[in-house]
Amino acid sequence: MTTDGVDSTTVTRTCIGCRSRDDVTALVRLVAMPGEAGTTVTPDPRRTMPGRGAHLHPDPRCLELARRRRAFGRALRVEGPLDLTLLDDVTGPRD
Ligand SMILES: [Zn+2]
Repeated sequence: MTTDGVDSTTVTRTCIGCRSRDDVTALVRLVAMPGEAGTTVTPDPRRTMPGRGAHLHPDPRCLELARRRRAFGRALRVEGPLDLTLLDDVTGPRD
C-alpha cells in the first residue's frame, strides 16, 4: 500500500477496460444488481449506490475491452452471467 503522492483533492480510479488511472469524475461508477435472471451491471452516475463499485470510461472501446477480459465479474466480485445491456447507454453506440 503506497500513497503514491496522490493529491488529496484528486481521486483517481482505474478503468477496468483500458486499465489506466483517471480522475474519478472522468469515469462511470458501475455496481452489480443481483436479479432472478442473473446479475445486471448498472451505471451509478451519482455514485450513491451501495456495494462494491467498478469504474469504466464512458467509451465503447473501454466497454469492449472490459467485456472481453471479463473484468466485470472480477471487479465486482460476482459470479455467473452478467447483463451488460445498460452499459450501452453510458458508452454510446458502438461503431
Ligand atoms: Zn478506459
